[in-house]
Amino acid sequence: MRKYVLILIFTLNQALAQQLKIGVLRAYNITDVLVSYHKGSYNVYGDSLKKHTILPTESVQIKRVGDKLNLIQGVRNLGYFDTIRIQETLPNHSFRIQGLKPYKIKERKYKNNLLLTTDELKGIKIINEVEMPNYLAGVIESEGGGGRHIEYYKVQAVLSRTYALGHLKKHIKEGFSLCDRVHCQAYHKMLTYTPTIQKAVLETKHIVMVDQNFKLANGFFFANCGGQTSESDFVWNNPIPYCRSVRDTFCVHTKQAHWTKKIKKTEWENYLVNHFGYPVKDSIWGALLYSFSQKQRKAFYQIPQLGIPLRDLRTHFKLKSTWFDVYLEGNEVVLKGHGFGHGVGLCQEGAMKMSKYGYTYDKIIRFYFYGVYLLDYYKWLYFKQKYNSEVM
Ligand SMILES: [Zn+2]
Ligand SMILES: [Zn+2]
Repeated sequence: MRKYVLILIFTLNQALAQQLKIGVLRAYNITDVLVSYHKGSYNVYGDSLKKHTILPTESVQIKRVGDKLNLIQGVRNLGYFDTIRIQETLPNHSFRIQGLKPYKIKERKYKNNLLLTTDELKGIKIINEVEMPNYLAGVIESEGGGGRHIEYYKVQAVLSRTYALGHLKKHIKEGFSLCDRVHCQAYHKMLTYTPTIQKAVLETKHIVMVDQNFKLANGFFFANCGGQTSESDFVWNNPIPYCRSVRDTFCVHTKQAHWTKKIKKTEWENYLVNHFGYPVKDSIWGALLYSFSQKQRKAFYQIPQLGIPLRDLRTHFKLKSTWFDVYLEGNEVVLKGHGFGHGVGLCQEGAMKMSKYGYTYDKIIRFYFYGVYLLDYYKWLYFKQKYNSEVM
């Protein structure tokens, strides 16, 4: 027992001391960047030698020149380095960053530290070394903005934290853990205008979602289910045990719960016949080419034996969801649908409504994710080490 407690303390210290490494401004191959004062003070290091302290109103410029980074302050050239670190002098300071080349990119603000190195191409690899709560608050604000109930923000905090801790090695080859794009989780700035988000992050501190096999679970989400979430294997090939279809009455009276789309009759017929060999000449199926209904969500058009996945129709015709009925009106095929998004996991608009009705974040998560547990991450790590199981 004593041994496990020691391991736990060691792991806790390790994990708490660690900052997340997030690759930021990943969408632009930046070659020239300006880092400016915002709050607190920062020391600037070139290959571990202190070169400057950024004072209020000051900034430093970093340019890629050949295979080095050129550090410039005002008119002073401070040298050429492999790595430039912009390090806060006390915890929780923040800085501003702006891409200058190849495009001007709107200024962003981040907390904690910044590490710049050359990347594999001709750009600068920009890594924000950030404390977990600051990262999560930035993710939540990037993904949805303000004005929501705190219990909904807590749901987002738990799902985003679980995702981050479950994917720490996603970009390991590039020298950081997660990128700032939807490929990982959108993270476009520090939290700037929603104090409730920060409160939600702190009040769910260390809480993660694990599945029945004790693995960190993937908190899939989408905008609106239209009244029923989807079985995961209707959308992806692997069934996910905790993403089962649930009936959801919370989102049905919202704007995105219903949609209509009209498609030319010939376009519909051509796609179904040419791509899937739809049996138009068959006496039964021929008559049903333009007539289809789903009382509850299905995976295939008409019957599975015809081999027409609804997810393919959704992609091809750019439909909001796979849950729709079909009928003919003159020369047009009318699709009447429910929901917006892939439908697997948590329905965001349903969850928002639940939070307004007084459901707490744990109840909301367990409504959408079947059989999951919410645990303290460090207890989970302790348990994992104690039983030496391969759960990550
Ligand atoms: Zn990524
Ligand atoms: Zn819903």
